[in-house]
Amino acid sequence: MFLNSKNKLECFGCEGCVQVCSRNAIVMAEDKEGFRYPQIDKERCIECGMCRKVCPYEYTPVKHRDGKYVFGGYHNNPETRFESTSGGAFSAIVDAFCDKNYVIFGAEAKGLLVFHSYITNKRDIGKFRKSKYSQSIIGLSYRHVKRFLNEGKKVLFSGTPCQIAGLLSFLKVAHVNRDKLLTVEVVCEGVPSPLYIQKLDKELEKKYGAKISSLDYRYTGKSIFSCGKWDFEKMRIRFLPPPGGKWDFQEMRIELMNHKKMIVKDRWFNPFWSVWLKHLMSRPSCYHCKFAEPDRVADITLGDLWGVHLYCPELYGANGGASLVICNTEMGKSVFEMAKKSMYGHELVFEDALKYQGPMRRPISNNPDRDEFMKDLQSEMDYKTINKKWANPPTIKLLFQKYVWGNRQKVFIWNIKQKLRTRKECGSLHR
Ligand SMILES: Cc1cc2nc3c(=O)[nH]c(=O)nc-3n(C[C@H](O)[C@H](O)[C@H](O)COP(=O)(O)OP(=O)(O)OC[C@H]3O[C@@H](n4cnc5c(N)ncnc54)[C@H](O)[C@@H]3O)c2cc1C
Repeated sequence: MFLNSKNKLECFGCEGCVQVCSRNAIVMAEDKEGFRYPQIDKERCIECGMCRKVCPYEYTPVKHRDGKYVFGGYHNNPETRFESTSGGAFSAIVDAFCDKNYVIFGAEAKGLLVFHSYITNKRDIGKFRKSKYSQSIIGLSYRHVKRFLNEGKKVLFSGTPCQIAGLLSFLKVAHVNRDKLLTVEVVCEGVPSPLYIQKLDKELEKKYGAKISSLDYRYTGKSIFSCGKWDFEKMRIRFLPPPGGKWDFQEMRIELMNHKKMIVKDRWFNPFWSVWLKHLMSRPSCYHCKFAEPDRVADITLGDLWGVHLYCPELYGANGGASLVICNTEMGKSVFEMAKKSMYGHELVFEDALKYQGPMRRPISNNPDRDEFMKDLQSEMDYKTINKKWANPPTIKLLFQKYVWGNRQKVFIWNIKQKLRTRKECGSLHR
């Protein structure tokens, strides 16, 4: 076995080469940074070249440029919305596309690991909901997609743009008819090294005597009123609007195996977001991503409706989460035409949305300190020391902006102004 001669910058880890190999001569293996790369067994390899032909780095699938339909909004069902990461657009699309004889593929978390798997009943959609910030293990998913399409089933495949590209290349070289395939990609800021969360796991085990059993990177269900054993949620529901309302706080929730402790951290106090968004620990290929641009590979692109309070505050929806949906193909548009019936929202201008979506304009920027950070991460340095050295604590100004005078307050004022304006307009009509 030896590491494929390809440069690490040129491998997205989509696993297309593993699945196309008729001799099963390629396996994925973790490197020191925790990212997975293909390794070829020379003994088995017959040098047919299929692994190169399927590689989306070398043969990028067709990208869709013109005629996009862009939508912002959220799911009409509050439960669905709060169980999703953004506004629940993924669930609306699944409902619209999957009538009968369908299969849905997505990323599922098992402890700290993330796998791609499939379901044949949309009632099980819960396991695919929620963004897991770790590259999923694709396994044999592309081969399964091929089998299902050949059997005449409708297939919805969701994943990161490079995974969609890997699938499309795989199906192309396998000459599979893609008429019944719908691809849904998430806007992607790159995937972080799994070593970071493993360090956190170690730290928690040392402190509380138990490992992580589940990790929700972006909890939106209830609020700060429900923490630990002091659950004020019921009381809050009686006096305040319905639950939810923490979407742009990106609250992380961790449950431990001994169920003794629930760890809750808002984004501003969570070093994970600080370290990741400084681009200190992303997969090397993410810094050169071929899919981080306005032209997209999938039928539909999903993201958070970042900037909602600035350019479409009417879609903020009490901070319960809002989705950005970009339909790139005719197929994507026709499915979303049905999906949007279960959503509140409206069409947006692509250029407006693009302003707040860095990963749709260009790949993430290189951080010159990445190598030093990754060395620390691989060393015996513990979680706390790493964060002390590398994470930025929140400034007073930021905390004031977020907790005292934040987006919600801006939207609140905007709402009052809207109401006054409508009242004035109605008044002048009656006169
Ligand atoms: C690694 C990653 C980075 C992201 N970066 C951004 C960003 O920079 N800007 C932005 O606007 N949005 C980003 N997103 C997308 C965003 O977080 C939401 O996933 C998206 O808006 C869909 O929300 P929803 O409410 O419709 O879906 P949900 O119901 O929450 O569905 C989640 C969808 O994401 C897929 N998914 C979850 N985890 C993974 C994973 N590890 N690998 C592949 N697919 C996965 C599921 O299969 C499902 O299709 C990112 C998502 C991921 C997974």
